[in-house]
Amino acid sequence: MTIALYPGSFDPLTNGHLDVATRAAKLFEKLIIGIYDTPNKRLMFSTTERVELARKATEHLPNVEVTSFTGLTTEFARSLGAKTMVRGMRTGSDFEREFDLAMMNKRLNPDLELVCLMASQEYQFLSSSILKEVARLGGKVENLVPPNVLKALQEKLSLEAVESVK
Ligand code: ADP
Repeated sequence: MTIALYPGSFDPLTNGHLDVATRAAKLFEKLIIGIYDTPNKRLMFSTTERVELARKATEHLPNVEVTSFTGLTTEFARSLGAKTMVRGMRTGSDFEREFDLAMMNKRLNPDLELVCLMASQEYQFLSSSILKEVARLGGKVENLVPPNVLKALQEKLSLEAVESVK
């Protein structure tokens, strides 16, 4: 079976991530979305929440699984028997970052191949961090995330608002 790992922070999963996962699921027999437990970023959603959001948003894709992981992505891929790692590539800085990551990952696990899917035009400028910023400022994000993520975002932001007036 051809297994591919699509790793990331997914804080939260956006339509850009979903687009990459949907396209990658057509290329491999099984696609595992790996949610990195402790990225070097300030997170809005816990690991459990990020996994649940991604699971619900991809439940219509029968060969996609979602699971969290800790430690090296290359080791996680090895443990799954994944020979391919999928990443999404937007214009500009993604290339530099992915290139550096790919070189390091190749040293760590020479058997793992990287497949980068170019982001679709409508999602080129979409990132989880921009999405969170826009949502916090009250901007419309309806077309940028799956419905369950939109709901979770709205709930999280109203909780934050309540906390801030305490
Ligand atoms: P990381 O913290 O590893 O960058 P992210 O959750 O930000 O994790 O992204 C996971 C992967 O999805 C990365 O390869 C990233 O480039 C890709 N990605 C993020 N946003 C988009 C998008 N709008 N379109 C396509 N790929 C994307």
